[in-house]
Amino acid sequence: MPKYVYDFTEGNKDLKDLLGGKGANLAEMTNLGLPVPPGFTITAEACRHYLGHGGMPEGLGDEIASHLAALEARMGRRLGEADDPLLVSVRSGAKFSMPGMMETVLNIGLNDQSVLGLAKQAGNERFAWDSYRRLIQMFGKTVLGIDGEHFEDALDELKGDRHDTDLEAADLQRLVETFKGIVRREAGREFPSDPREQMDLAVAAVFASWNAPRAVLYRRQERIPAGLGTAVNVVAMVFGNLGDDSGTGVAFTRDPGSGRQGVYGDYLQNAQGEDVVAGIRNTVPLQELETIDPASYRELLDIMGTLERHYRDLCDIEFTIERGKLWMLQTRVGKRTPEAAFCIASQLVDEGLIDLDEAVVRVTGDQLAQLMFPRFSGTSDNRRLTTGMNASPGAAVGKAVFSSERAVELAGRGEDVILVRRETNPDDLSGMIAARGVLTSRGGKTSHAAVVARGMGKTCVCGAEELDVDPHERRFTAPGGITVEEGDVISIDGGTGAVYLGEVPVAPSPVAQYFEGRSVDGELVAAVDRLMTHADSVRRLAVRANADTPEDAARARRFGAQGIGLCRTEHMFLGERRRLVEDLILASTPQERQAALDALEPLQTDDFTGLFAAMEGLPVTIRLIDPPLHEFLPDLTDLAVRVALAGDGASARDRRLLEAVRRLHEENPMLGLRGVRLGLAVPGLFAMQVRAVATAAATTARRGADPRAEIMIPLVGAVQELEIVREEAVRILAEAGVSALIGTMIEVPRAALTAGQIAGAAQFFSFGTNDLTQMTWGFSRDDVESSFFGKYLDLGVFGVSPFESIDREGVGRLMRIAVEEGRRARPDLKLGICGEHGGDPDSVHFCHDLGLDYVSCSPFRIPVARLEAGRAALVSGGSDTR
Ligand code: PEP
Ligand code: MG
Repeated sequence: MPKYVYDFTEGNKDLKDLLGGKGANLAEMTNLGLPVPPGFTITAEACRHYLGHGGMPEGLGDEIASHLAALEARMGRRLGEADDPLLVSVRSGAKFSMPGMMETVLNIGLNDQSVLGLAKQAGNERFAWDSYRRLIQMFGKTVLGIDGEHFEDALDELKGDRHDTDLEAADLQRLVETFKGIVRREAGREFPSDPREQMDLAVAAVFASWNAPRAVLYRRQERIPAGLGTAVNVVAMVFGNLGDDSGTGVAFTRDPGSGRQGVYGDYLQNAQGEDVVAGIRNTVPLQELETIDPASYRELLDIMGTLERHYRDLCDIEFTIERGKLWMLQTRVGKRTPEAAFCIASQLVDEGLIDLDEAVVRVTGDQLAQLMFPRFSGTSDNRRLTTGMNASPGAAVGKAVFSSERAVELAGRGEDVILVRRETNPDDLSGMIAARGVLTSRGGKTSHAAVVARGMGKTCVCGAEELDVDPHERRFTAPGGITVEEGDVISIDGGTGAVYLGEVPVAPSPVAQYFEGRSVDGELVAAVDRLMTHADSVRRLAVRANADTPEDAARARRFGAQGIGLCRTEHMFLGERRRLVEDLILASTPQERQAALDALEPLQTDDFTGLFAAMEGLPVTIRLIDPPLHEFLPDLTDLAVRVALAGDGASARDRRLLEAVRRLHEENPMLGLRGVRLGLAVPGLFAMQVRAVATAAATTARRGADPRAEIMIPLVGAVQELEIVREEAVRILAEAGVSALIGTMIEVPRAALTAGQIAGAAQFFSFGTNDLTQMTWGFSRDDVESSFFGKYLDLGVFGVSPFESIDREGVGRLMRIAVEEGRRARPDLKLGICGEHGGDPDSVHFCHDLGLDYVSCSPFRIPVARLEAGRAALVSGGSDTR
């Protein structure tokens, strides 16, 4: 039979799975010789049994009895004994902290007799009756499920105009009777007077609170597995409310906001912990304890030092002073802000408590990402209009504009603008670049606006569905009928998704400035620099950028990119060149088609020359054109209306265009004529691109530079597709005397499943996990996030969108197959990833574990990927940052 109960002297901090965080750390402190009230922990395994079988495991009752007997012997008092009762608290404590989500019951052991004993022993009748009424109140709410308002109303009625502290023993004694009446009325039973029954019911209630709706919701948000269960701690009560020589407090061993060393905490005299949480009276800064109770203060500082040295990290603690005697009620490695995380990790290295490897493991890419965005620097009274999805963090303020042209125009005059659209498309790129931030009313976190904004490091709130955006009238309407016209100032918070009317003050990010290559002083930047340098020195994965322009490439390089992993060439066919693509599509003879291609080729050559220059000496992966042809054509409805309105006056070109648009129309273009399919359907298109690469590389090499081209074929599903394109490309490269790797994206499930064959024709694979996720799940990446992903997240179908973080079991399995079979067929096959996941911390760890050679991500995510690649090398098996 498993052991279900551990005395505090039997556990330690590494037993969190079994004893929960609180229990494991109480045991650790006990064994360090710190003053912890004695007690024992009932394991999470017992909880799992209780939840699974609807009852306590066999033998648990006896085990609890023998640990209780030991506790009683140690304290020299018996639970609930009439003249000198031992009282206990029953506290939840899961493996991962879930603050306030589960239940706790204090003062167990009080009844009509033992309350008198407590009064006598404490020499304080008021205290005893107050403790008793607190027990009935908590027990009634937590164990018997009575609405807490019944108790609160009764207390308010009794108080009238008085404060809690003005209530006398006789008042509280009367309140106990009232509370018992509430229990009788609401729960249909008497408040149990048997101490052991109180305890057993409380333990069961804490177990059951694991599945309380708020706990379930919290776990989903924090990605805490639902099956862990909670441990329960039974602890001898100590009282902070026995008079002015007693009190309770919380403290941090360093400032969790900045990492600075010092004394941080709050103290409340003559109070219990719940009073601090309830904010009934104001706490005083911990420093004042030095005057109130110098001996306890000194002991506390000493203990804090011991804990920091022992845990080698910032700890937070809860303590109680009972009549001048200090007791430690809890400690754990404390949560902290991203800034403090970097500073503390570096400080601990200086103090010799940890080495650089550990310092890197202790910070996360998510924390780094948060540090790279500007933030709102203060609260303001500005009116919140709505909240959308927090698609790309940061804070942006500017005048609302409703088209890219206006964004460019106003930004050109030095104005700050926010581009507001229903949704964006590749044509909005110039506006997005010009704007401080982007706000859309449609689309999810992988919508065009979100993906592009994240890549640029630009603040974006998307899918703000409550906004009615009217681009023609240049305004939007928010709930309540508030209208924002072009030129009105709005502020958007990409961290929370909030949209405000008016200007909220913003502070730039020193960390982003540092990555841009500017010299920035300060402890934070020094710590970031130190940890990044170390992460770079230990990582195995290379980090490349998804970049299509020399400017992006240059920025990526400043941020530490070791090449380009994805240049989406279709982005080079927009704007003024769109007309040339139209010519290509409208061509009715081979001659016309060739003329269109000839016009495009020199432009492409220039594009690639620019990229080779920016990435001199580093690999540049050029993906041949991917999107569906119709993306280059006018909108079907717009064009049809234009032609209809013009009647006989419609131009011949418009008529031909309309016919082409109709012919190429697809219900689901993402699964249609794109990628290699397009390359095979439009003769000469891919060849033109390969020739442009070859010419650009040859010219660059003639200048004495070192271009390293890699040509990548998108959307391949069968080796035959690749072979046809490859043969032509090899010939063109040979004619130009240029060498370049030729490889493919793995983004169609069939490609992953036939990777062994495909590797025969590919020198590298790059996982296109955007498409691979879409096709593996059968989700349309453009639609699903805003339509039902919210529901799926609520239902726990997944804890995080598979477009954000690689679905290891499904998409990841296909990747593993492709890696194994690809490498088996071609041992020197180069492997990378260029889907959005390349910049996602958890996915970077997965790619490290899979043995990929590099990850490629948006320029702005490069520092995150570098750091996580370092962490992955140090903690193989994945990160757990909760
Ligand atoms: C992908 O599918 O993951 C990819 C990188 O290609 P795109 O997003 O351009 O389809
Ligand atoms: Mg793709």
